Amino acid sequence: MLKIYNTLTRKVEDFKPLNPPVVNMYTCGPTVYDYQHIGHMRRYVGDDILVRTLDFNNFKVKQVMNITDVGHLTSDSDTGEDKMEKGARKFGMSVWDIAKKFEKQFFDSARALNIRKPDILMHATDYIKEQIVFIQTLEKKGFTYKIDDGVYFDASKFPDYGILTGQRSEELKKGARVEFVKGKRNVTDFALWKFSPKGEKRQMEWESPFGLGFPGWHIECSTMAIKGLDTETLDIHTGGIDHIAIHHTNEIAQSEGATGRQFVKYWVHHNFLHVDGAKMSKSIGNIFTVEEVVRRGFDPLALRYLYLQTHYRQEMNFTWDALEGAQIAYKRLIDEVSKFKNPKIGCAEFEGKFLDAINDDLNMAKALSVVWDLIKSDYPDSAKAESILKMNQVLGLDLEKAKEKKKKIKIVVPQEVQILIEERNKLRKQGSYTQADHIRNKIKKLGFNIKDTKKGVIVEKI
Ligand code: AMP
Ligand code: ZN
Repeated sequence: MLKIYNTLTRKVEDFKPLNPPVVNMYTCGPTVYDYQHIGHMRRYVGDDILVRTLDFNNFKVKQVMNITDVGHLTSDSDTGEDKMEKGARKFGMSVWDIAKKFEKQFFDSARALNIRKPDILMHATDYIKEQIVFIQTLEKKGFTYKIDDGVYFDASKFPDYGILTGQRSEELKKGARVEFVKGKRNVTDFALWKFSPKGEKRQMEWESPFGLGFPGWHIECSTMAIKGLDTETLDIHTGGIDHIAIHHTNEIAQSEGATGRQFVKYWVHHNFLHVDGAKMSKSIGNIFTVEEVVRRGFDPLALRYLYLQTHYRQEMNFTWDALEGAQIAYKRLIDEVSKFKNPKIGCAEFEGKFLDAINDDLNMAKALSVVWDLIKSDYPDSAKAESILKMNQVLGLDLEKAKEKKKKIKIVVPQEVQILIEERNKLRKQGSYTQADHIRNKIKKLGFNIKDTKKGVIVEKI
């Protein structure tokens, strides 16, 4: 039985969808205003593992993902600029063009990481009409009010507001830290529709019964989730942990306000990726993309392997050294699997252990260790081959292509070692062999052996 942590109940629960074997799942997708980095991509690999695990358990998953191409403000308090308009200015392109550019960059990264495409992809700008109708429903039910700035959801009218964080409205108000919008009644109220600023032409704006403007960010997810999945109660909704307090809290309020039913059974949230112990930020210059990973000589699936080593609810620290380690482990795995021939009757024992690991709230580090234990076991190669091919349906590490991949993945030699090798080559050319040996020892201490061959130096990981 699959067990999964549910943010709503703060417990690991047995997974029981409403209408098995169907699983309706909604994934908050990217806001396409800038490059998607390896922090974003960790989240989507996490969702991909969830989808594959559901598949492996014979559920029939229907996954909807949105693309936010309008309405995501730079601040969570309904102030600040629309991220898309800001991005367009930064890149000197139209809003529509940056949306296209960064959606492509997102899917290129996703493909490189073997993330399966969602069944249905929905762009916020394609569903403006539906969002307006959704707001009108809320209006009829008395949840909204209009101020100079836009149409707002009155959180005090929704008694369960804050259920996802376990903080009710009253508590939220006390801890509020909001740049207040003039006329907003409660700090927890949020914009459903923002009016275009007077005297300013926005690149994206629509006529509506409320006035010229654009939708708030949260409303697109409620509208498209219910429409795309054709149900008012979803089985699973996913996102990053930063979505819990505002975005998903607001999605619940407006969806349940409109339908009168529970919006989501299981909320799944992914933790963040840090780099060298620090938050990724432009000022530190530690934002890396999948393209950068590939440019530096890594196989993108080494990054996927690295992600799998940290549980999705734990913060993960990325370092280039850790990625080198993951590439070495991944290369070894490919080398081992490439030796296996003729898959036949798998090992039930290890397949069972693997299933237990993934069904234990997606414990992928454990699942990987089961794979290695199987490789080291005494089972015949044909059985190992069969079981590993099955496990790869969840791992998504291209193990079925091990023979072709074997030649392509190289050990990535750290720059520090590369510099030492060049130095040693120079010394050897000059005949300074003692000094050259000294450098060989230094390289050894960094974990690499070097062999001098006719074709040049060969580097091996110790
Ligand atoms: P952004 O486009 O930077 O506002 O990020 C959009 C969403 O991606 C955030 O709301 C998070 O859920 C997720 N995200 C951003 N940075 C990271 C990170 N370093 N690690 C994991 N997820 C992230
Ligand atoms: Zn969303």
